[in-house]
Amino acid sequence: MGKEQKVLIIGGVAGGATAAARLRRLDEKADIIMFERGEYISFANCGLPYYIGGEIKEKSALTLQTPESFHARFHVDVRVKNEVIAIEPKMKQITVLDHNTGLTYEESYDKLVLSMGAEAIKPNIEGIHSDKVFTLRSIPDTYRIKEYIEQKKPCTVTIVGGGFIGIEMAENLQQAGLAVTVIDLADQVLAPIDYDMASDVHRQMESKGVNLMLGNSVRSITDLGNTLKLALNSGELYADMLIMAIGVRPETKIAREAGIAVNERGAILVNEHMLTNIQDIYAVGDAVAITDFITGDQGYVALAGPANKQGRIAADNICGLDSSYTGTQGSAILKVFDLTVASTGINEKTAKKLGLNYDKSFTYSANHAGYYPGAVNMSVKTIFEKTTGKILGVQIVGFDGSDKRCDVFATAIRAGMTAYDLTRLELCYAPPFSSAKDPVNMAGYVIENLLTGKVKNFHWHDVGNLPRDGSVTLLDVRTDIEYENGHMEGFVNIPLDDLRNRLEELSRSKPIYLTCQVGLRGYIAARILSQNGFDTYNLSGGYRLYHSIFGTHPPVPSVKGFNADTQRADEPKSELRINKTIQLDACGLQCPGPIVKLSKALREASEGDLIEISTTDPAFASDLEGFCRRTGNILLDSSSNKGISIAQIRKGSKLAVTDTSVAKDGKNIIVFSGDLDKAIASFIIANAAAAMGRKVSMFFTFWGLNILRKPEKVNVKKNFISTMFGMMMPRGSRNLTLSKMNMGGIGAKMIRYVMKSKNIASLEDLIKMAQANGVELIACSMSMDVMGIQIEELMDGVKISGAAAMLANAEESDMSLFI
Ligand code: FAD
Repeated sequence: MGKEQKVLIIGGVAGGATAAARLRRLDEKADIIMFERGEYISFANCGLPYYIGGEIKEKSALTLQTPESFHARFHVDVRVKNEVIAIEPKMKQITVLDHNTGLTYEESYDKLVLSMGAEAIKPNIEGIHSDKVFTLRSIPDTYRIKEYIEQKKPCTVTIVGGGFIGIEMAENLQQAGLAVTVIDLADQVLAPIDYDMASDVHRQMESKGVNLMLGNSVRSITDLGNTLKLALNSGELYADMLIMAIGVRPETKIAREAGIAVNERGAILVNEHMLTNIQDIYAVGDAVAITDFITGDQGYVALAGPANKQGRIAADNICGLDSSYTGTQGSAILKVFDLTVASTGINEKTAKKLGLNYDKSFTYSANHAGYYPGAVNMSVKTIFEKTTGKILGVQIVGFDGSDKRCDVFATAIRAGMTAYDLTRLELCYAPPFSSAKDPVNMAGYVIENLLTGKVKNFHWHDVGNLPRDGSVTLLDVRTDIEYENGHMEGFVNIPLDDLRNRLEELSRSKPIYLTCQVGLRGYIAARILSQNGFDTYNLSGGYRLYHSIFGTHPPVPSVKGFNADTQRADEPKSELRINKTIQLDACGLQCPGPIVKLSKALREASEGDLIEISTTDPAFASDLEGFCRRTGNILLDSSSNKGISIAQIRKGSKLAVTDTSVAKDGKNIIVFSGDLDKAIASFIIANAAAAMGRKVSMFFTFWGLNILRKPEKVNVKKNFISTMFGMMMPRGSRNLTLSKMNMGGIGAKMIRYVMKSKNIASLEDLIKMAQANGVELIACSMSMDVMGIQIEELMDGVKISGAAAMLANAEESDMSLFI
């Protein structure tokens, strides 16, 4: 190299600092100056939410380098608080505003690297400039949020935008003690994954207490002094602070003013060497448009990995090395409380939009050998090219081990691999780490079976459209207990292991649509049937996926949710004698499976034995409290981690039941009817009993659930049948009809009029009164599932439980009414 080259870099974080370091390693003589508008360089943007939540404790952990340390290591002239305000390509110079002095100056260059990143979008809505509205990009933004929480002690926060930053903030702000609401205009969070995979994420967030408001947006913000009033597309909300996280926009004003070409989004256009349309000016990171590795289309992805790679490639080219950027595939990963959500390549939305000839498979595999303790499943959605089996994209929602599987898929996609190649990958295996057939191999096998015609699939979105007129057979091959715990409407049950002996019950002239829990037994059934002359289709992802999209999921109560007075023993755990510990694995079973398994184990156990049961059924925890209370067993502990709840129950003596101090004078009302008159009667009785100081529980099942429905339409995803059901059933107390003399609604109006004129509280007031008097309103989870009613559609304050909770209440009552 002849004359020393002078390289200027604008932006001192991911792309800029990487370019500077690589330049120095390649060219010891170059004159390198890095300009950074802010006070910090090379900081850990990705760690900022975790500092706010307290996971990262030290401020210093966020700054990987200081200007001094960077200079000492790389001999780069780092100028912080120096903002570049203009680029003059013809003169090959830039103008800099030094915020330390307030003065401007010029600096010439041989080569220029732009790495200005992207700014958080703040929509132009009324009230956006309130000091209670925040965005998060930099270290000062982080301190502002942290200090606001410490000094003003807000109780509630609304996060607008369910993208990566929004979701990370939701978790961390909840960790910091705030009640969190997330609002998103879309019907799902995390746009890079598809709705079917986001359903588990929604459930996880709700189970952790985050209030999700999807399909909504903030139209204006009013600062009321100590709180914000948010006008939403539908309804309004109050929040003590608001985080705007609706996305980012490339920060390219100075580039555009200098004539550097950008796309309609404002992202700088570069070639594979990261060179802009102007000679000697390179651009990298969040400021540039990318080429999608899968589709070859131009796109925009703001991620640290591409920024770092591009910074290195720009430096290589400046130093005469021929290195190229080969496109971005959007590999990304996120922690959502216990869950891991990872994706790479394109999603189904994109494949559909581009009209690609694709198909998809859903697989559900354990992260390691099922017999080795702690195995948990991950859901894998794989998008592949129909003709060749080439892998186009993968989404994984799971727990431990999801990250490494997504990375293997990301590597496979980079290498242009097909599903056939996935079956051949030889991946590390020992029981604590994986299975001999790794989840990646499994996805390959399943797709290979599809591609080679060994099985035909149908999908969760096809289920609602399947004819229920007898022209096809709808067959569920799970065990009868699984089937009874919940199944899709119209499906009949023949357990897989009985299938060969019951073939004569099925007609060969009709196609058979099969389902099982996750797709594996359905596939085995499909193979048995197709080799016996039947035409079969298997539900990809099985009932589990269908239920995760359309089913009702009671929130998992936290350990603190257990009432210490009634559900736990008074004796401290340490003083209890424990004979032997019995481990019970009920993971994968759904209500009432775990309770049934537990009660069998308790019957066989001796007094003082400890049963440690692990489950993955969210309803179990709420059933368990009542179960232990009534059976005289002692609930010692329960905890939930990474999708597995573990409860410890000490077998008590029969005496414990009779000795219990719980008075048996409660009132247990089972409301089956959705008739107005019967609803009024049940709430009058409930209020009267509550007024006498009695504990009152009302268990709403089947038509009774309609009393608890919110009057307004709630935007939730439903299948066709549930939607029709929902439309036909009355939405809330105001729309109920009389059991007799309804006369097209005139009777109901008359009775309301008479009650009002006689000063009798309306049904709505009776309900409010009951809630205020501590009457427990319980919605039956099984009926909700059957009727397609979701938790969001019910009025606030309603608890969701199974039959075991109702029976526990019945045993503590001296009166049970079935209305
Ligand atoms: P930046 O890192 O934003 O750096 C640009 C710098 O340029 C800024 O410091 C800015 O002050 C400076 N600048 C701008 N204009 C000028 C000017 N005119 N003069 C001087 N200086 C200027 N990505 C992931 O892959 N994984 C994650 O987990 C992840 N988490 C994130 C969490 C948060 C809260 C944020 C904000 C981002 C996260 N990202 C994550 C994205 C990732 O940080 C970015 O993709 C990456 O930092 C982009 O690098 P960059 O160099 O293009 O821009």
